[in-house]
Amino acid sequence: MTENIAIIGGGIGGLVTALSLDKLNIPYTLYERAASLEAVGAGIWLSPNALQVLQWINPTLLQEIQNAGNTLNRILVADHKFNPISDSNQDFVQGKFGFTTMAIHRGELQEILYKYVQQENIELGKEFKEYAQDSEKSIRLYFIDGSHVNTNAIIGADGIKSKIRKQLFPNSKLRYSGQTCWRGISNYDLDPLLESVGFTLWGEKLQFGVSKISNGKVYWFAVKMSQPNLTDDEKDRKVMLTNMFSEYPPLVTYLIKNTPNEKIFRDDLSDLELLNKWNLGNICLIGDAAHSMTPDLGQGGAQAIEDAFYLSNFIKKTKKLDTAFDKFYNYRKAKVEKLVKQSRLTSKISITNRFLEIIRNFILKKTPQSYIKKQMLELYKLDKTIANNI
Ligand SMILES: Cc1cc2nc3c(=O)[nH]c(=O)nc-3n(C[C@H](O)[C@H](O)[C@H](O)COP(=O)(O)OP(=O)(O)OC[C@H]3O[C@@H](n4cnc5c(N)ncnc54)[C@H](O)[C@@H]3O)c2cc1C
Repeated sequence: MTENIAIIGGGIGGLVTALSLDKLNIPYTLYERAASLEAVGAGIWLSPNALQVLQWINPTLLQEIQNAGNTLNRILVADHKFNPISDSNQDFVQGKFGFTTMAIHRGELQEILYKYVQQENIELGKEFKEYAQDSEKSIRLYFIDGSHVNTNAIIGADGIKSKIRKQLFPNSKLRYSGQTCWRGISNYDLDPLLESVGFTLWGEKLQFGVSKISNGKVYWFAVKMSQPNLTDDEKDRKVMLTNMFSEYPPLVTYLIKNTPNEKIFRDDLSDLELLNKWNLGNICLIGDAAHSMTPDLGQGGAQAIEDAFYLSNFIKKTKKLDTAFDKFYNYRKAKVEKLVKQSRLTSKISITNRFLEIIRNFILKKTPQSYIKKQMLELYKLDKTIANNI
């Protein structure tokens, strides 16, 4: 492959695509708008499908990520009084894949991924503005700083508000989920019994999730049904959140109180209405740019990482880039679209009114463990036969 590929965006999807292309000796340049990639943000859960990709790229990279994070061997959903609704010991996942889900500081994950990418292939401080198709095989990229470059193909990994997507598919639409989320990292030592548990407490129109990410650091997220763009005073967030979760166990209040105010982030949660295609000619979208989902299954980042794995391998195996992009979309569409729909459904049932809560909890408690296990194994599966260098 002698054609040059431009990756726009150095988030999780863009960086793992770069690492995958490095592994397969495929030339590319990655353009990221941030001037530096620093350890900012809250936490993230990385599920075994994502970890298998990182292991394929480089076992040392995976080890470094595992050392920086915390392994979760139990996934628990409970009501706001901590009565279990769904409780899944992850030993069967460990047995099948060699690891379970892990929790890590998002910024630290990004820093480690960045460190392993071939540095000469990355340009930071380059904010993409628009592209122009010069000819069938030549695309000109324009940046906000006034510069431009020519490339043969674009991989749009520029996230949920993707400019590449807006230009490629101008009718694409984001859908507000009806929920706002606050996230933070608390300086707190969790009870040792909870250190390896990723748990979410579902209450009336509220949800609170917790996991240890490293010694003395706990990642939490708080979700509330709300109108979009409601303003909340950043300085009063702690007071507001502790009041909001006053009926929850005291642990929730401790976690919020032990989080520096400026380390509490807020997002209105949206997903992307399903696109009919993620690619056109020599331009292809991946990750949130292509199929942003609500965070309820903790799969958005993992799916961006899976995209990187499959796309790079299709590029390696296929002579023409546009054909590789078609194959990638056709292969990935079914799994990803199912997850977008499931995430949205979970977002609706996780935060609901008291009456529906009782019905929901009854149904979930009756769901057979064998069914839950089968679903998880299917979700975490990675088709390694697609890969060349295994
Ligand atoms: C509250 C919340 C919790 C979540 N929890 C999880 C979880 O536990 N597990 C999980 O797997 N997923 C989770 N997700 C989803 C996950 O964060 C996303 O799916 C993932 O970050 C998508 O990666 P990406 O690379 O496609 O996009 P992003 O991570 O958004 O990266 C996009 C990159 O592109 C850059 N960029 C944007 N525009 C331009 C431009 N014009 N020019 C150049 N660069 C540009 C940005 O600076 C950024 O670096 C969560 C999401 C939310 C909102």
